[in-house]
Amino acid sequence: ATPTALLVGTGRGAQLGILIKGPEALESTHGIDTVILDKTGTVTSGTMTLKDVFPAAGEEREEVLRLAGALESASEHPVARAVARAANSTAEVEDFANVEGLGVQGVVDGHAVLVGRPRLLADWSQHLPSELEEELERARARGETAVAVGWDGKARAVLTVADAIKPTSADAVAALRALGLRPILLTGDNETVARTVAEAVGIEDVVADVLPADKVEVVKRLQSEGRTVAMIGDGVNDAAALAQADLGMAMGTGTDVAIEASDLTLVRGDLRVAADAIRLSRRTLSVIR
Ligand code: ADP
Ligand code: MG
Repeated sequence: ATPTALLVGTGRGAQLGILIKGPEALESTHGIDTVILDKTGTVTSGTMTLKDVFPAAGEEREEVLRLAGALESASEHPVARAVARAANSTAEVEDFANVEGLGVQGVVDGHAVLVGRPRLLADWSQHLPSELEEELERARARGETAVAVGWDGKARAVLTVADAIKPTSADAVAALRALGLRPILLTGDNETVARTVAEAVGIEDVVADVLPADKVEVVKRLQSEGRTVAMIGDGVNDAAALAQADLGMAMGTGTDVAIEASDLTLVRGDLRVAADAIRLSRRTLSVIR
């Protein structure tokens, strides 16, 4: 490899809005045939807003928001931010704990509160009444993320949050396809939500309901099947997968942890630049070879 060609590629990358960790980073793109896209914050804006509150029979919307909002104020998760912002609750939180990839738990104003995936509540034998299950499924079919709220031993509400798909995501997916890459949407979110988002941007393959620790396993599995994998992500929970991928690309708008784990950073967080990055590296490498 002639270092000069790689350095020229690196300089051109900077002009395109691609920050390349080292000249060698470009070499790793050779033979990439699969690109994994994280959903939240990568294909979607990652800024969620609260849409609906569905209290169970006998429950008050205000109380649901007061308790869930206070608990979520202690979390940085996009779902938590949306709930906390809408609720604006000042209730006191004790014994807060984040349950990785599932939700949050804590004591709010003396009540033991859970907010998160229905699975988290089910672990505490808190099951949603059937009418709330139905609201949850309807929200997911609309592409919204739905979480359950329970306290003092009982599931009491469903909250739904919406996250806009970035206007450039569909073009970005088309550009990646035009380079001969197979796109896969990867998320910790529910399968129905993931399918709705995937369909809107032109992705057929979805891997959903993946716990943060298991995202890296998805990359390893594809590699063991003989694929050469690029991964694009933004979150703390994407870092291990970004590092494991043959080419890790972080959104410049993402977390420091994701950026550190990656070979490249898409400075402006524009997903279309991912295709530019792969095109640039192919061109740079063809000069070298
Ligand atoms: P993603 O891959 O979409 O970033 P995560 O692995 O961070 O997803 O979370 C998976 C799911 O767990 C979320 O879609 C949400 O349903 C639930 N969850 C995680 N953290 C929280 C939280 N603080 N409050 C409510 N729900 C949460
Ligand atoms: Mg993300």
